[in-house]
This record gives sequence, structure tokens and C-alpha cells, in this order.
Amino acid sequence: MNIIIDGKECSAEHGEYILNVAERNGIHIPALCHSEALPGQGNCRMCIVEIVDGSRRKIVTSCSYPVTKEIEVITCSERIKEMRRTIMRLLSARAPGSDFIKRLSEEYNIPPETRFKIDNEEKCILCGLCVRACDEVGAHAISMVNRGTIKKVSTPFEETPPECIGCGACAYVCPTGAIEIEEHQGKRRIWNKTFELLKCTRCGDHFMTREQYEYIKNKKGIDMDGLLCDKCRKKTTGEKLKEVLQTVGKQ
Ligand code: SF4
Repeated sequence: MNIIIDGKECSAEHGEYILNVAERNGIHIPALCHSEALPGQGNCRMCIVEIVDGSRRKIVTSCSYPVTKEIEVITCSERIKEMRRTIMRLLSARAPGSDFIKRLSEEYNIPPETRFKIDNEEKCILCGLCVRACDEVGAHAISMVNRGTIKKVSTPFEETPPECIGCGACAYVCPTGAIEIEEHQGKRRIWNKTFELLKCTRCGDHFMTREQYEYIKNKKGIDMDGLLCDKCRKKTTGEKLKEVLQTVGKQ
């Protein structure tokens, strides 16, 4: 089916999110908590757009609104721009410690916060992506705790989580750099836990923690094909494929 985004006709699959349709058609919609791997989050609200459906208009989050019929979408009307600015103002008051949020605040011309009491060190916007990533991995080592103004991401009882395998998915997916992860001399430190990093047997690069390797191999039952990093695994697969094709070609 076809939908109109900012006057441009765009083809969309039934059920596809507006944000994905827009991206595919080169139309930028700002989004903080959107990840290709974990779609449909809809928490930061920056990706709001206006939907025109016949005589009805409504505001929706484009990352979680599926296309089910032919509609018109407006991504940057004056109304949307003003609402997005208000959202940015709230995010900026929530996480002034994040460099990423600081840069966005400058872009949106957000004035210094005077209405709310702010924590200058805070970097988290409570989007929940990290918790979802950890759950998807299957480790369930972190969660949202408390409510209201003291809500935060934490490990159980704020202690070093035994379930954490040090994969770093939470830190990699975090849009604001709120989760600290350090890698130094073959060690990775995250959530107050230090992990030894294993070396790829082909290129010698450190690439994953021992706990992560054991978890993928034993608990998920995935054949890791030796200790190879992604790059070398792809290379090895390519070489094997070439060999097979050459053998088949010879026959
Ligand atoms: S730590 Fe990062 S990913 Fe997790 S809720 Fe906060 S901003 Fe989102």
C-alpha cells in the first residue's frame, strides 16, 4: 500500500512502523530510543508525528505506530516541532549529564532549566532499551526499579549481578551513554563486575567474555565454531564456501 509522508508517496508493508517507512524513503524523524534490533519501543516520544486520516488528525509515536491503511503523515508541522521541543526540554531536565542530550538540547535551543530540580550527573532518560536488550539476551541481570522521580535502571538490590555475562548489550544499545563500560588490557568492566575477554584464535583480537562464550555455547546451544570473532567467522565461512564452490566446479 502507499502512504504519504510530508507530501511524498511512500510504499509501506501492512504492519510496518511509520518510522521505518520514513527512514527507507530518506525522511528523517528524530528518535532516541529506537533500535533496529529492538523496534517499537515508543518511550522517548521524540519520534511523534501527526496522522491525517480523512477528517481526523492525531499525534502518534512513529516508531510504534503500524501502517494498516492509506494515511497521510506529517513529520515536522509547527505543532509537532513545538511538542518535540517540549519533550526535548523534559529529557534535558532529566538527563543533563549526557553529552548526547546536551548536544541535542543545543540543537533544539533549549534554555537552561529553572523549573525543575535537576541532577547534573544524571545521564539516563529511562527509555528501557537496556533492560529489554538484557532480557532479549536472556540474562535478566538489570531492571527498572522504584517509581516516580526515583525510578532508575539497576541490578537486583544494587549489587553485582551474578546473572550478568558481561556481553555489554545494555551499554551498546543505550542512546545516551548512561551505562559505564570499560575495556582495558583484556578485561571488561561493567555493573561493577570485571570479566576476562577471550581472544579470537585467528586475529588475536579480544572479542567476548568467557561467560558470554559459555552462555551462547552451553545455554543457547549455538555452535560457536571455535573461538572466532565475527569478522574472522565471516572470513572463514567465505573461505569454506569458496572451497566448496571450487570443488563443485571441478566435478
Ligand atoms: S541506561 Fe540508557 S538504555 Fe537504559 S533506560 Fe537509561 S537511557 Fe535507556
